[in-house]
Amino acid sequence: MTFSKLNLIQPLLNALHKSGYETPSPIQEKVIPLILVGRDVMAAAQTGTGKTAGFSLPMLQRLSEGDRPSSNSARCLILTPTRELAEQVHQSVQKYAANLALNSVVAYGGVNINPQMLKLRRGTDVLVATPGRLLDLFEKNAVRFNELEFLVLDEADRMLDMGFLPSIKRIISKLPKQRQTLLFSATFSDSIKALSQQFLSNPILVET
Ligand code: AMP
Repeated sequence: MTFSKLNLIQPLLNALHKSGYETPSPIQEKVIPLILVGRDVMAAAQTGTGKTAGFSLPMLQRLSEGDRPSSNSARCLILTPTRELAEQVHQSVQKYAANLALNSVVAYGGVNINPQMLKLRRGTDVLVATPGRLLDLFEKNAVRFNELEFLVLDEADRMLDMGFLPSIKRIISKLPKQRQTLLFSATFSDSIKALSQQFLSNPILVET
């Protein structure tokens, strides 16, 4: 299998080549085609499986086909449990999007909110954030979700373990109903299944 057989566009293929990726990982092979055609996906994936590229590449491709965001709008929201994971995902997104005219912002707590508010002003194609700080930014009207197309819950089981369920529910209540939602989790507990039943639309279950 190759990335070009997965119908990824040349700017992404060039970025992958530069990163030294030769073949898609099993999770990438499964989720990329599903995400490209617009399906909601619930995937079992540990770190180290290549899940980040699995959800980022097809989303970046779809985002590159649409309109730029308006002021303060985010088109894609990736929620992560920790600032470390947010940083890591953001760096991966930037690497894969290097040849595309898309921008991304990362926002997490424990640091000054003002630089994050400034970065969101012009709108962002991809926002990687931890739940608490995202709600703070929303309450300050620094971010709008009326143009949101994609939601990713990354390491969803860890977010629930850390007590983020109420925050996640509040965030999702602000999002457009019509969107594509992707949930990645190392484990499929009953609470993860309940989350996906509530917030994903006819999802395809992917296990590797
Ligand atoms: P992740 O599971 O998303 O945290 O990715 C784990 C590591 O694998 C990261 O360092 C990625 O850069 C790398 N990676 C992801 N996909 C591939 C691939 N198809 N080929 C080689 N390395 C990859």
